[in-house]
Amino acid sequence: MEAMKHMAIPTEKQLDSTTISYGACKFCHQNFALEVLKEGMSEEKLEELATRKCDCNEARNYLSREKKRDKVIGNIVELFGEASTTSTILIEQIDRIASGNVLKVTVDSGNGYKGTLQMTSKGALKVERSISRKLSKEEMYE
Ligand SMILES: [Zn+2]
Repeated sequence: MEAMKHMAIPTEKQLDSTTISYGACKFCHQNFALEVLKEGMSEEKLEELATRKCDCNEARNYLSREKKRDKVIGNIVELFGEASTTSTILIEQIDRIASGNVLKVTVDSGNGYKGTLQMTSKGALKVERSISRKLSKEEMYE
């Protein structure tokens, strides 16, 4: 067991293509040593990685929100496909709906499908695909 613990310390085992950079948690600003590629990494990415390593309450809340967000994105993609306009628009609106700034978003893609994203009264983010295909014919009669 002791040997396993020792092996988990990364500083000695660093790969040639990587280097150690420092990033701070975006909430409590605690610094973390991060193994990153030598090409470097943007400040934003370092901050994101540090936040994901951090154990403060805000960072844990943030991570659990991100996980929920990923699940909602998964639901949207499952119903509307990865590259569809409806998916893109609904994914863009997740944060607005989650924060209560927008109650409901409906996207009519014009191909007979409508996508709706809304917060339910139970606090769930609900994605819905409805089919609104009408058939009609018109003939000038006057
Ligand atoms: Zn933190």
